Amino acid sequence: MKLSKSVWQTYKEIPNEAEIPSHQLMLRAGLIHKLGSGLYTYMPLAYRTIRKIEQIVREELDKIEAQELLMTVVTPGELWQESGRWEKMGSLMLKFQDKADRDLCISPTNEEAITDVFRKSVKSYKQLPMTLYQINTKFRDEIRPRFGLMRAREFTMKDAYSFHMDKACLDQVYDDIYQAYVNSFERMGLKFSVVEADAGDMGSKESKTHEFQVTAETGEDIIIFSENGGYAANVEKAETIRKGISFNKDGGELKEVATPHMATIKDVCEYLKKDQHQSIKSLVYSIINGEDEEVVLLQILGDDELNELKLKNYLGAEEVAPTPEHKLAKMGLPKGFIGAVNLPLEMRVFFDKAVELDASYVTGAMKVDAHFENFCPKRDVKEFDVFDMRLAKKGDYTLDGAHIVDEKKGIEVGHIFQLGDKYTKSMNVTILDNNGKAQNPLMGCYGIGITRVMAAAIEQNHDESGIIWPKAIAPYHVYFALIGKSEEIKEEATKIYKSLQEAGIEVLFDDRKAGPGFKFKDSDLLGLPIRLVLGERDFKENGQLEIVTRKTNEKQFVDKSEVISKLKEILEKL
Ligand code: ATP
Ligand code: MG
Repeated sequence: MKLSKSVWQTYKEIPNEAEIPSHQLMLRAGLIHKLGSGLYTYMPLAYRTIRKIEQIVREELDKIEAQELLMTVVTPGELWQESGRWEKMGSLMLKFQDKADRDLCISPTNEEAITDVFRKSVKSYKQLPMTLYQINTKFRDEIRPRFGLMRAREFTMKDAYSFHMDKACLDQVYDDIYQAYVNSFERMGLKFSVVEADAGDMGSKESKTHEFQVTAETGEDIIIFSENGGYAANVEKAETIRKGISFNKDGGELKEVATPHMATIKDVCEYLKKDQHQSIKSLVYSIINGEDEEVVLLQILGDDELNELKLKNYLGAEEVAPTPEHKLAKMGLPKGFIGAVNLPLEMRVFFDKAVELDASYVTGAMKVDAHFENFCPKRDVKEFDVFDMRLAKKGDYTLDGAHIVDEKKGIEVGHIFQLGDKYTKSMNVTILDNNGKAQNPLMGCYGIGITRVMAAAIEQNHDESGIIWPKAIAPYHVYFALIGKSEEIKEEATKIYKSLQEAGIEVLFDDRKAGPGFKFKDSDLLGLPIRLVLGERDFKENGQLEIVTRKTNEKQFVDKSEVISKLKEILEKL
C-alpha cells in the first residue's frame, strides 16, 4: 500500500481516557477510531492484523475438523426465553423490538443460536462429535467499557461450540481445542499462561474450564501460579493453603478487652501485640436469591480477604454482597466489633478452611469498643460450617504443600468451557444414542476475543517509541521509506516497491512528501518488523539501501540487488 494515497495518519494528541499502552498506541498509530463509548472502527492497518489473527485461529480449528459457519448478529428473544437467559443476562445484553413487537437482541454470545442450528440439522449420534464455530461481531453493554479494544462494547469473537454423546468424548474434543488454542497463541508470538478458571453457575463440578491469559502488567486478571509451572489458576478460582504461620493453642479463657476506637484488624492487633492472622475478621454478607435475602456471618483469618465468587458458588447464590452498614445497625451488629460470640440474632456462621478451629484468636466482642481475646471457634461457636472462601495470594502454597505460589497479571484472550447438558436440556434437544435411547447431548463452548488479542499483543510488545508487532500478526512486514525528492529517486523507489510486492513481501510504501524524522517516527510508532530506507544520498553514492530491524534496532546496508533476499532472510529469522 502507498501511504500517499492511504487514509492512514498518526496522531500526537490522544484523549486522557486512554490509560494503557495498547489503547494509547492504537489511537496514536491511527489503527482505531473511536465512534462512541466502547465502539471502534478498525482502520485498514488494524483490520489486516485482525484478519491475520482470525486466519491463524481458523487454520488451527480447521485442523481439528471444526466447521466454520456464520450466524446472525441479531438473535430472536424467544430462544433466550427458552434457555431461561432472557432475564438472566441482565443489562449486558442489548435488547430491542422489531416493528412487529418481537423481542430481539444483539448477540453477546451464541449458545442458544447454535443449539437451535444443531437441533434442526443433526439427527444421528453417528455425526458426533461435532464442533461448529464462527468469527463474528458480539455486543455486550459492558458496565465500564475501557482500555480501547480490551473491553469494548462491540468486538469480534471467535466462538466455537461442540456437541457429544458422552463426557469422555467431550473431554477429548476439549483437549483438542485446548491444543488448537495453544498452537494459535504460539503462532501469534504471544507469551501466555493457561489457567484454571471459575465455572460459576454454568457448569457442574466435573466440568472443566480454562482461560488463556496473555501476561501483561496492565492485565485486569490476577493469576496465581507455582514457580515449577505445575499450578496456574485465575485468582477467582485459585485454591491454595497457608503454611508456616503459628497459631496460639494454649486454650486460655475468653476474655473481653477494651479496644476504644479500634475498629480495624490492624489497630486491634497492634494494640494487643498479635499477628493479624491470630485474629478473626468477621464479614456480614447478604446472600441473594430472587426476592430472598439471607444474612450470614463469615469468619476468615485477619490478614486474609474474602473471595466472593467462592462464597457465591458454595451457597449457590445468584448474588452476594456485603450487608450495608445501615442494615447491620438495625440487626444490632456493631461494625468493627462483630464476632461469632453473642450473636444478637440467628444467622448461619461459616469459617474459612484456613482457620485452625482449636486455636485462639482475637475477635469482635459484639459491642462497640470491645474485643475478645482467646476466642476458640471449636469451643465458643455452637454450629458452623467450614469451606474454602479466602482469596489466594502470593506466598501461599499449592494444595499438596509442595510449592509456593506467586501472582502475576493477565489479559483473558480465550476461554474454554464444558457446558454439559445445560442448553440441550433447557432447549429440549435430543439425539438417539446407539441403543436407540433419546439423550441430551453434552456441549462445550470455546471463545477467543479476536480484537482483544490485538490489544493484548501490543500490551506485551511495545517500547517508548511505539508498537513492536510480532511478525505473524503485523499489518505489513516492511515499512519502506523513501527519503528523497528528485523524480529520479521516486521512480527508483516505485520500482523497488513493485519488485518487493512481486516477490511476495508485504510492504507498506511511505511515499509521502515528508522528511526522514517524520517518517522514522511514524515507522517506529506503527512498529512493522522491518524498516527499509531508500535514502537519495546513500543510494546515489553507493547504490545501497538501509534495513533496520524494529525490535533490536539493528541496522545494515545492502545493495539494491540484494534487498529482496536480505529482507527474506531477516523475516525468516524473526
Ligand atoms: P471478561 O471476564 O474479560 O469480561 P468474559 O469471561 O465475560 O470476559 P467470555 O464470555 O469468556 O468473556 O468471552 C470469550 C472471550 O471474548 C474472552 O476470553 C475475551 O477474550 C473476549 N471478550 C469478552 N468480553 C470482551 C469485551 N468487552 N471486549 C473485547 N473482548 C471481549
Ligand atoms: Mg471468560
